[in-house]
Formats: sequence, C-alpha cells, structure tokens
Amino acid sequence: MKLVFATNNQHKLHEIKHLLEDSFELLSLNDIECFDDIPENQETIEGNASEKAFYIWNKYQLNCFADDTGLEIEALNGEPGVYSARYAGDEKSPEKNIELVLQKMVKIKNRKARFKTVISLVIDGKEVQFEGIVEGTILEKKKGQSGFGYDPIFQPDESQFSFAEMPLGEKNKISHRGRATRKLVEYLTHLVHK
Ligand code: IMP
Repeated sequence: MKLVFATNNQHKLHEIKHLLEDSFELLSLNDIECFDDIPENQETIEGNASEKAFYIWNKYQLNCFADDTGLEIEALNGEPGVYSARYAGDEKSPEKNIELVLQKMVKIKNRKARFKTVISLVIDGKEVQFEGIVEGTILEKKKGQSGFGYDPIFQPDESQFSFAEMPLGEKNKISHRGRATRKLVEYLTHLVHK
C-alpha cells in the first residue's frame, strides 16, 4: 500500500520507515511533488494533524498520515500547545522559545508539563487518530545537548535525565512521538493482515 507521510523531515521519515513492514511504500511530500505550504490553521493539535492529512487526501486522493505535536504546560494553561514551534515568534527559534518559557515560569512552583503528539491517518477518505503523551516537568535551566526544540528543559517523569541528555533510542521508547507512532504502526500492521 502506498502511504504518504505529510512531511519532509528526514528524521521522522527514517524513523517510521524502520518500523513499517515492506508492504507499505512510504512516500514523503517531495516524493509526490507536493511543494505547497500545507495549512496548519487550527486551534488544536488534533485539528492541525487532521487538516494536514485531509489536505493531501483532498488534493491527491492518496492514503496518508500527518502528525502534530505540542508542549502543554499546566501552569501556563496549556501553552505553548499548538503554538509550540512559533511561541516566541514566526522565526521559530528553539532558543527563543525556551527563553520565553523559562521567563514565564520564573517563580512558578508547579512545573508540570506534557508533550502530546497526534497522528491523523486518512485511508480511503476515512480518518483515525492516534495520540501519544509523555508527562514530565519543566526544568529551571537547560540541561543536555541532544535532541531539538524544548528537549533541554523537559524532563519526563520516568527519568532523571532531560530529553536532551538521552540518546535518541532511549527518548523514543518513552516519547510522545514514539508512543503515537507505535500505535499507528500497530494499526497499519493489523490492517494488512486482516
Ligand atoms: P511538530 O508538530 O513535530 O513540528 O512539532 C511542533 C513543535 O513542538 C516543534 O517545533 C518543537 O518546538 C516542539 N517539539 C515537538 N516534538 C518535540 C520533541 O520531541 N522535543 C522537543 N520539542 C518538540
């Protein structure tokens, strides 16, 4: 089955290709020559994942999936949430985003936060969503060099290390994206064996 992953992020493509059976031919946006700026105009992570997947389905009638992720901080009423990539502005600077979060969290005792990924899969025009969540805390300062985005200030509850201090394999075992991706792969695997 041909399946489009609505991304050009090589890291995400590689990760999922590795997990999917050979019965799936995974295509990126480049592979289908889609160079559009796919809209992400919704106010929820679920809405954005859905909007991206249906954009591909509606334009190309190809089975596809899309993901969207956000960091939700309890004391900030769920911010940055759907605005995680551009929290400190449209330049999407991870350093500035982290600075803004740390600044807003000064003197805040409740450091609880979670990452949430939603994957929207559209097969023959019908949608199924998969969610992955990791609970953790926002650190008072950056720790670690690996990863990306908010990794240096996020420490998952099941570890004493920040995401930026973990090798990728360790992060994937407990991460929001890892969890959502495994649910998607399980669903697709059942689908081809039905
Ligand atoms: P996307 O939907 O995967 O593009 O993620 C949106 C934004 O959430 C990214 O630009 C990052 O700022 C943040 N983000 C997503 N996943 C992670 C992660 O695993 N670690 C840290 N930040 C992340």
